[in-house]
This record gives sequence, C-alpha cells and structure tokens, in this order.
Amino acid sequence: QAKEQGRNSVRFFDPDMEKKVENRSQLEHDLRQAIDNREFLLFYQKKVNAQEELQGYEALIRWPHPEKNMISPADFIPVAEETGLIIPIGDWVLEQACQTLQQFQQNKDTQHLNLSVNVSVKQFRQADFVPKIIAKINHYNIDSSKLELEITESMLMDNLEDTVTKMKELKTIGLAFSLDDFGTGYSSLSYLKNLPLSTLKVDKSFVRDMLIDKEDAAIVETIIALAKTLKLQVIAEGVEQIEQVDTLKKLGCDLFQGFLYSKPQPLE
Ligand code: C2E
Ligand code: MG
Ligand code: MG
Ligand code: MG
Repeated sequence: QAKEQGRNSVRFFDPDMEKKVENRSQLEHDLRQAIDNREFLLFYQKKVNAQEELQGYEALIRWPHPEKNMISPADFIPVAEETGLIIPIGDWVLEQACQTLQQFQQNKDTQHLNLSVNVSVKQFRQADFVPKIIAKINHYNIDSSKLELEITESMLMDNLEDTVTKMKELKTIGLAFSLDDFGTGYSSLSYLKNLPLSTLKVDKSFVRDMLIDKEDAAIVETIIALAKTLKLQVIAEGVEQIEQVDTLKKLGCDLFQGFLYSKPQPLE
C-alpha cells in the first residue's frame, strides 16, 4: 500500500519543474565558467539632469554567453545570489567601476561624473564588504563621493541593522546611496528618514505607464513629493518619451535615465 502510494506520488513531479531545475544547474555551471573565463562586460547608461546635462552613469552588467544570446542580469543575478557566485561577480563589477571612475577623474571633462553600481543583498552582507570597498577606493585613488551604491528595499527588509551600519560607515568615507526600484518593495516608509540615502529611484514600471494610467501617475507624483520632503534627490528610470520628461520635470524630478537618452552601452 505504502509502496503503491509512493509510486503514485511520483506523478506529482512535474516535468516542467524538472526542466527548470536542469536549466538552473546548467546556468550555475555556465556562471562558474563565465567567472573563470572573464566573460562579463560592464555597460553604462547615462543619467542626465533637468538641463539635459550628463550627470553620470549607472553600471549594468552584461553576459554575452558563448553559445546562447546575451543573458539578462534579471535572469542570472538571482541565480548568482542563491549560489553565492554574486560575491566574485560583484567584486569584479566594483573593480571595473572603480577603474572607470579613475579614468573619469583623470580628465577634466569627465571628472565631475558619478557612477552608480547595483549591489545585491548577499554581497552587502559580506563581513568585509566595507573594507573591500575602501581598499578599492584607495587602490584606484578615486574621489569616493562619485561612487554611488544602488540598494533595494529587499536589502532593508533582510537586515535593517546591518544595512544601516554599513551604509553609515561608507557614507562617512563619502559614498552615496540610492534606493533602486523604489515603490515596488514592501519597506516601511519610516525607514527612509533614518537612512543615509541621497537618492530615490522611481521604478521604471511606474514611469512606463504614467501618461496613460492615473494610478501610476499618482504614484510617481507621490514618490517625487516624498523625496522633496525628505530632501532626497529623485531620479526616474526607464524614461523613453519626451512627454514623460516634461511631466516629470513639472513634478520636480531631478534626474532622468532611460532609452530616450541612451541604452546601456560599452564605455567607449
Ligand atoms: P536596475 O538596477 O533597476 O536597472 C535598470 C534596468 O532598466 C536595466 O536593465 C536597464 O537596461 C533597464 N532600462 C534602462 N532604461 C530603460 C528604458 O528606457 N526602458 C526599459 N524598458 N528598460 C530600461 P538590465 O540592465 O537588464 O538590468 C536588470 C537588473 O539587473 C537591474 O535593474 C539590476 O537590479 C540588476 N543588475 C544589473 N547589473 C547588475 C550588477 O552589476 N550587479 C547587481 N547586483 N545587479 C545588477
Ligand atoms: Mg539600478
Ligand atoms: Mg531599477
Ligand atoms: Mg534593480
């Protein structure tokens, strides 16, 4: 009887699920290889101010898989997080970013530019995350006030105390922080007033439909007003149309990022 049930229960194993597990371990294997073979690239997307002057860039990782097409970071970063591979990947991103800032700062036309880097939870939780950053800043001898780390609400939810402690330490040496994808998470608004943040990033999903959906428009307006009240800068991501910029400017948005200005592209 038990054996019978055991055999029957096998039927609950869904072949789609099996495929997913297989794809995942393939992806993990390929990620390890990508780290060893240095397959990643860092792309850069412009951030501009209300006068359309270049303020800086966001660094975005790219993985041109040797056999498949470009794999989106939205697909491999979560796997890198779960497997811990985000640590070597994140180290590489920060190394590249600091090298780029050094290059910017060696030329008077680009020395004012800031560079923001996405940081994931597991990466930030490393016991030696702060000293690692300090070592890179010293090694490349860069003005740390031009380095910005993009964190997400999930990082606050995961461990607020550790996050705030490290943010404060890094702020002391000059780094800036922005809260990415703002409005899509579940963090308490009361966190905001105690965090050493400099910028809120309005999530692109709200910007996308703000001209056609009243609710998205209301959310964008509220986030910008909140940022103003808290004396934070606010940047809209995913800006694709000039009409969005016009409306965002009227609402007091400070910075703009999106395909309208540039796609993420190699530094050259
Ligand atoms: P994110 O940090 O919110 O980055 C913004 C995403 O929006 C990027 O997707 C960018 O290419 C895309 N985007 C920019 N402008 C537009 C636009 O006008 N329209 C549309 N539809 N999309 C636009 P991407 O590069 O695929 O990155 C996805 C996510 O992967 C990022 O979201 C970030 O969370 C993560 N990520 C990317 N690079 C890194 C990295 O170096 N480290 C870590 N930990 N995460 C990264
Ligand atoms: Mg980001
Ligand atoms: Mg975002
Ligand atoms: Mg994000």
